[in-house]
Amino acid sequence: MLTKDEITTILKKTKAMLTGHFKLTSGRHSDRYFQCAMVLQHPDHTGVLCGELARRFAGENISVVVGPATGGIIVSYEVARALNVRSIFSEREEGVMKLRRGFSITPGEKVLVVEDVITTGGSVLEVIDLIRKLGGEVVGTGVLVDRSSGKIDLGVRTEALLTTAAISYAPEDCPLCRQGLPLEKPGSRNI
Ligand SMILES: [Zn+2]
Repeated sequence: MLTKDEITTILKKTKAMLTGHFKLTSGRHSDRYFQCAMVLQHPDHTGVLCGELARRFAGENISVVVGPATGGIIVSYEVARALNVRSIFSEREEGVMKLRRGFSITPGEKVLVVEDVITTGGSVLEVIDLIRKLGGEVVGTGVLVDRSSGKIDLGVRTEALLTTAAISYAPEDCPLCRQGLPLEKPGSRNI
């Protein structure tokens, strides 16, 4: 079992979670920035985190793990490896979430839906909907980071390794600007 401290340490060490003063793509400012791709580039760390998600759903008779492209693909693959089951991914075709590439769900199959980060839960809800339409039984959702402070109700059991609030400020109301902290644009700093 991984503790919250161990999870946070991995996310910080890999720079998947940055703390400071950031300009988000929306133009708003925040003291945190998440880029899960940074941890997913390390198979060893990814294996440890996804192993913890898998552990939480062990004993649920899951036979397939599915994640939405692109953030969910690697998470799905590593959780499935730990559960020793299939891993597939969904993707949008003309805006509609679908299973492509020959992937399918057998009616009655127990499915675990995974994602790297959820903020509004939109993509995950679309995947849950898709799986149910295909006759699958959604056992739950596993995510690395829930940025909704745990407020999203996906209607199924949801496990997040880290739960945090997505707090951001309009530039004119930003307390970090007032403190005179230098503003960084994620991805632009040489770290
Ligand atoms: Zn600011």
